[in-house]
Amino acid sequence: MSIRVTVWGENVHEQKNKVVAEVYPKTMHGTIAEALNRNAGIKATTVTLQDPEHGMTVEKLAETDVLIWWGHAAHAAVDDAIVERVCNAVWGGMGIIFLHSAHFAKPFKRLMGAPCNLSWREAGERERIWVTSRQHPIAAGLPDHFELETEEMYGEPFGVPEPLETVFISWFAGGEVFRSGLTYKRGAGNIFYFRPGHETYPSYHDANVQRVISNAVKWAYNPEKRIADPNDAPNTPVDKALEPIVERGPRLHHDGEAGYR
Ligand code: ZN
Repeated sequence: MSIRVTVWGENVHEQKNKVVAEVYPKTMHGTIAEALNRNAGIKATTVTLQDPEHGMTVEKLAETDVLIWWGHAAHAAVDDAIVERVCNAVWGGMGIIFLHSAHFAKPFKRLMGAPCNLSWREAGERERIWVTSRQHPIAAGLPDHFELETEEMYGEPFGVPEPLETVFISWFAGGEVFRSGLTYKRGAGNIFYFRPGHETYPSYHDANVQRVISNAVKWAYNPEKRIADPNDAPNTPVDKALEPIVERGPRLHHDGEAGYR
């Protein structure tokens, strides 16, 4: 049984920007999926913003174990109902990996509940990525640090909640640092944010970056059956309590009531 990965690509700059099209002739999502498919045990497919329902149909999400999301220029074009559907899948147990400028993607902001802002500079700087959590499965097979010769700078403070684990931090030639590999859990879903991947630079062709993403897929994968309704909030009446209890005091709700939302 392979881990079923769906790579979600915004697919805007690959179509409109000559530099990006040259760096990623197979598109960014296509490049990421191709690298993943070289791993035994991973089966990656792609969808794009332009697909019906942005490729995030109920059926496609049901057969996605781990979703990878790259967006930048068109975050606002993602329909809020689709964002909610994706978040529900995460709360139900789907793994999700947000790459680079997806720090401002609607599903990431919804899952983080925070501004997710940062400082940035597009100057083709050297990025040195340090492993901060030794023997973390997402860092498996990596050296203690590796470099990307040209990248966009992202700097702290990164406006996200404190993560479960910080797997990587980055240093940039201009002096800034950034928490570049962060894990979270939301509901039953494992979440990983990974920083590199500005579209005018070849970061997704880099072997170490590809290894991080494939490691993260394996880490985020949850083999359990998806929780059907992760928003369910059932009322347990007195007579169904596990231990016998006597009702006391006034009540606002009736037995079996749905309750307020
Ligand atoms: Zn960027």
